[in-house]
Amino acid sequence: MVEVSDKRSALIELIDKIEQLGQFQDRIDFPANIRQIWRVFLGDLRNLIDVEICALFLVDDDTHEFALRYVSPENKRSICQKEINFQIECGIFSWIVNRRQPALIPALAFENDASAIMLPLTSTKRTLGVVLLITSIQDNYITQENMKLLTMLAKQYSLIMENTILYERLSMKHRSLEKANGEIRLLSRTDSLTGCYNRGYLNEHLPHEIKRALRYRHSLSITLCDIDHFKKVNDTFGHQCGDLVLKEFVHCIMSLIRSDMDWLARYGGEEFLLVLPETSVGNASRMAERLRKHLAKKTIEWKADKISITASFGVTGFNASKPFEKISPEALINTADKYLYLAKNEGRNRVKSGRFQIFA
Ligand code: GH3
Ligand code: MG
Ligand code: MG
Repeated sequence: MVEVSDKRSALIELIDKIEQLGQFQDRIDFPANIRQIWRVFLGDLRNLIDVEICALFLVDDDTHEFALRYVSPENKRSICQKEINFQIECGIFSWIVNRRQPALIPALAFENDASAIMLPLTSTKRTLGVVLLITSIQDNYITQENMKLLTMLAKQYSLIMENTILYERLSMKHRSLEKANGEIRLLSRTDSLTGCYNRGYLNEHLPHEIKRALRYRHSLSITLCDIDHFKKVNDTFGHQCGDLVLKEFVHCIMSLIRSDMDWLARYGGEEFLLVLPETSVGNASRMAERLRKHLAKKTIEWKADKISITASFGVTGFNASKPFEKISPEALINTADKYLYLAKNEGRNRVKSGRFQIFA
């Protein structure tokens, strides 16, 4: 009688375990990562069998080798790697992988009578990895029933792992594509020599700045900056030196403007346009004067020489509280250019400014 009830409770226990295995998926929050699935796997595994060490080897996409991903407990990493290396050397490892079935073998790297259970993780098409379990339970106590349950667990685990690996790979590709797109976007709007925005960016964004200022009735100013006698720098010190001067010029301006609002674009050659949102012409003019002074004081080292440069500035802008219907970027730049011309004409190294007006 006792025997029947023992068998009955053992059967119920087995059914419980099988049922639990069937719910493997329910214990995972998707989208999951490999580590999360590994943790759930470890929990389920410990419900089935007493194991001391558990290690996950996954096939590396690039090298196609089995790489050790996770070990529990963590301090058994090197001995697990050693165990696999021994198995590879003896040819057991490839036998198990090709057989695609769990196998119980004596552990080679461990002392005493430890056993190793190898659980290949396979999808319909390929091998994803192998789980190595080390247990001190004698071989003859690891029942067929246990091995069947482990096979079931490995199947469930493989299915979810395959989807997760695919998902991680796709996410990684997506991230690197996003990064590459970001870099392309940045390159397409950046001047390759100086690192400030290029003419394309200017053409695209100045109209937006004007529209925004008109819509929200903010002021907007622009400053056209032109290096004085730049041709002489090229003629005296060479084109490479000219390039360095352009870089230093931009660096100097960028270090003095509001990084979150103002922006600088190369308008052409040695001419740059500084855009100052929410800035009156008066303030833009004072800003240009600061830039002018800084540049005039600066020396640029070129080989044994110290080079000084100056620049001229034409500033203009509008206050949108006045009823402007529309302002074209060309007309705005044209006004700044007129003031720049004045600055050049009056002897260079100076700032000339005035409110936006449409010149005939
Ligand atoms: P001004 O004071 O009237 O502005 O005189 P400038 O010599 O600065 O003006 P000009 O327009 O006569 O000469 C501009 C020079 O800038 C000529 C051109 O070769 C040089 N330049 C344009 N782009 C580059 C560049 O990317 N690198 C170098 N090194 N020189 C450039
Ligand atoms: Mg010039
Ligand atoms: Mg010029």
